[in-house]
Amino acid sequence: MKHVPLFINGEFKSSEATSHIDVTNPANNEVIAHAPCATESEIEQAIASAKTAFETWKDVPVTERARLMMRYQALLKEHQKEIAETLALETGKTFDDAMGDVWRGIEVVEQAMNVPSLMMGETAENVARGIDTYSFTQPLGVCLGITPFNFPAMIPLWMFPLSIACGNTFILKPSEQDPLTPMRLAELFKEAGAPDGVLNVIHGGKEQVEPLLTHPEIKAVSFVGSVPVGQYIYRTATSHMKRAQCFAGAKNHTVIMPDANKEHVLNNLVGASVGAAGQRCMAISAAVFVGEAQEWIPELADRIAAVKPGPWDDKDSAFGPVISPQAKQRVLKLIESGKKQGATCLVDGSDFTVKGYENGNWIGPTVFSDVTDEMDIYKEEIFGPVLSIMNADSLDDALKLVNNNPYGNGTSIFTASGAAARKYQHEVTVGQVGINIPIPVPLPFFSFTGWKNSFYGDLHAYGKQAIRFYTETKTITSRWLENDIPGGPNMTISLG
Ligand code: NAD
Repeated sequence: MKHVPLFINGEFKSSEATSHIDVTNPANNEVIAHAPCATESEIEQAIASAKTAFETWKDVPVTERARLMMRYQALLKEHQKEIAETLALETGKTFDDAMGDVWRGIEVVEQAMNVPSLMMGETAENVARGIDTYSFTQPLGVCLGITPFNFPAMIPLWMFPLSIACGNTFILKPSEQDPLTPMRLAELFKEAGAPDGVLNVIHGGKEQVEPLLTHPEIKAVSFVGSVPVGQYIYRTATSHMKRAQCFAGAKNHTVIMPDANKEHVLNNLVGASVGAAGQRCMAISAAVFVGEAQEWIPELADRIAAVKPGPWDDKDSAFGPVISPQAKQRVLKLIESGKKQGATCLVDGSDFTVKGYENGNWIGPTVFSDVTDEMDIYKEEIFGPVLSIMNADSLDDALKLVNNNPYGNGTSIFTASGAAARKYQHEVTVGQVGINIPIPVPLPFFSFTGWKNSFYGDLHAYGKQAIRFYTETKTITSRWLENDIPGGPNMTISLG
């Protein structure tokens, strides 16, 4: 049995923890590793190591920090397949999906390679006679990242490379459900030449997060996960005077206008709704058909019914199992509630299994029509391969529905009308908007954000704006007059 080590001060060491969490293969629930629930003293050691490393790392030239990211990017590319295999085994994702998970993380490392220009400040000459103002960005100190199970490569890579490239040091607390992938990321980071203590990895759950979240040495907290935990992390971190960005749950709608290209809509909706077993924060879980587009619903249901889940190493598998038996029970309960509350179950995946993998957490593709905004399947984030279909009479009605929803992560519209697309992109209260693209995830040189209950924090976000999250700005206003020479400058410094 593999015991997942901690990564503290550049060393992979076994934990002295007395309790462990099973890491399983979701396709058959076999235990593949044990992750420790790190002890208080190990958490203290990780913080102390990150604090000490910060003293030297913050002064390492930005070009050298960028070169570390270049070496890291090359190693991640070289090992992409092997990382994806580990990732597929512990998440159940298909191999192609797992490759995509790693690749989206590599793209963030590429953004971190660009740190010298991203950290550049602003200058203005002669803001008053003989006075110039310029600014620098400086790192904060020790930053913390708490990540969810559903993207164990991409989401840790959203956080620590950018933070570390800015000159911070980092403690990562990955999901206890799939810690093997993040550990491989840490091994390769060390191999790329990361100095000891710049990145530390601690395992466990709530009990391990608590002391990290309240510790005075932690200056900023990045979280991605569910709404209740996101709210708790945001409240706790900010009440301890830390900077916090918390990306939370979602209920993503797509609006289908009758003038849309039918083939394009149906092809795209299959993968966007049940792909990755619906365990994507950007999955489409509600499809709103406007007017005559409602005639396409039976055909969409037939196409989704034809999609078959299976194990990660079978090329024909369209998606894998859900992460755990508890997650499966939760989804099944919601499917049951949909039936009881009056939705029409067009495709029912609640009694689904895969031959040879009967113990796995399988749920087949599931489609409900006639869903209303009062049903639990609409109100709750399902995080399973379940699509809820709703009807609207007009674009205005569809917009009203989407904007009344408390989540605001992603949305999309399918239409041939520029005017309808323009109206939707302008009026919708959601962070990422796709036009004839179902899952509109921007590349890291843009910002990734969320509105309403999908994000708690200020305007800082991953991608481009992450640099602002992980740094402070220092503005310097200086006056150098001819007759000061050769005397010293008359300089004022204000922290902002
Ligand atoms: P989760 O909230 O259960 O766990 C996320 C992290 O928080 C894990 O590391 C976990 O150990 C830790 N945690 C759990 N309970 C805690 C507690 N009480 N106190 C402190 N820490 C705690 O989320 P999950 O099930 O791993 O991931 C799925 C969720 O993540 C979904 O809601 C999904 O929408 C969301 N998600 C959001 C985005 C986004 O960008 N908005 C991206 C991916 C996933």
